[in-house]
Amino acid sequence: MSLAEIKKNIQEERFVCPKCKAPIKEYDNVVETTASVWDGAGDSELETGASKVTLICSNKPCTWKERTEYWENYLRD
Ligand SMILES: [Zn+2]
Repeated sequence: MSLAEIKKNIQEERFVCPKCKAPIKEYDNVVETTASVWDGAGDSELETGASKVTLICSNKPCTWKERTEYWENYLRD
């Protein structure tokens, strides 16, 4: 999972706001954690490619936003 994928999901309106059920329109502060936490100690769990993002609904008047590593939870099927 990467910034490109988050972007694509926003564009295709696949993220759904848990509060108003509308497609989430914005995101901010994407951090791809894979490279930065890799310390060469051989812990392969760090290779899953997690990234952290702030998802922002921005469908007025909804003010929902969430800083999360588990943004897949907001993808609709
Ligand atoms: Zn919303």
